[in-house]
Amino acid sequence: ILQLYVPLNFLGTYYRMIKQCMVDVESMFKLLNENKEVEDAPESKELVLNSKADARIEFEKVTFAYNPAERLILNHVSFTVEPGAKVALVGRSGAGKSTISKLIYRLYDIQGGVIRIAGQDVTKCTQRSVRLHIGIVPQDCVLFNDTIEYNIGFGKLGTGEVATRDEVMAAAEHAQFNSFVSKQPQGYETLVGERGLRLSGGEKQRVAIARALLKNPPIMVYDEATSSLDTHTEKQIMAAINFAAQGRTNLVIAHRLSTIMDSDQILVLKEGEVVERGEHTDLLAKPGGLYKDMWDQQLNARNTKADRIGSAASL
Ligand code: ATP
Repeated sequence: ILQLYVPLNFLGTYYRMIKQCMVDVESMFKLLNENKEVEDAPESKELVLNSKADARIEFEKVTFAYNPAERLILNHVSFTVEPGAKVALVGRSGAGKSTISKLIYRLYDIQGGVIRIAGQDVTKCTQRSVRLHIGIVPQDCVLFNDTIEYNIGFGKLGTGEVATRDEVMAAAEHAQFNSFVSKQPQGYETLVGERGLRLSGGEKQRVAIARALLKNPPIMVYDEATSSLDTHTEKQIMAAINFAAQGRTNLVIAHRLSTIMDSDQILVLKEGEVVERGEHTDLLAKPGGLYKDMWDQQLNARNTKADRIGSAASL
């Protein structure tokens, strides 16, 4: 038996290594599918970020087009996210919010202006070193056909380490996902993905937050799911984000304005330009402002929905 066990064990190790590599490549391509043209400059340096207290993001007059021959997507966008702060990006669909998050992750290079992280121009730093310091919580995260444990623990791969079960559980707890997992008969061994349990948008977003927590980066970028969430799930996600945001530099792309009212600063984007900026109460006080307009619209939509539910209940 021992004679058999040794080679099998050996094979197991290789299987895991190969699987790990395949998953890395798969995830990398999914993430980078967008663009494979960004290349490190020959003399590029490593981004140096020794402390979370240095994790400042600066956009200075950033101009960008996916296709330089066509229209500009961002036009002279300037803002700063101070270390430890939470800045929200809002604006109508197509305004350029997700594009900003892609540029921070250096999925594309810009045509004008500068993007700095901790004072360093990201175009002069290796992509790998930039991405190592940023946790991304996408709208719709990629799930592997594997267990919940693997899907969360995968987050730590960015650091070159494999997460332990305890670490996965702690991250899930902070991401408000542990109670969902404990309801599954197979707990963390539950298979998810296309061949397993299908997760909802809100559940996937919590997996993404747990993953990002394991990476423990100084910078977090959250792209709030557009799909409508019930009030309970929305609260859980907000609590998860608020936990994850502590002590980091945070940029939140928000679709529901109610989730970002507490931000240190809100940037309102319109057709690739920042047209308003400030705290929630300042922006609401701006008569005729875009933020106020969007806020009123969302409030009306909520009230109409509540009316419908109310009148249905009274029937
Ligand atoms: P939403 O709220 O709908 O997610 P957004 O504000 O995040 O919208 P972006 O996704 O940043 O908007 O898109 C800004 C503009 O850039 C849109 O007009 C979009 O069509 C265009 N765009 C986005 N991705 C690409 C791409 N890969 N290639 C070309 N154009 C793109």
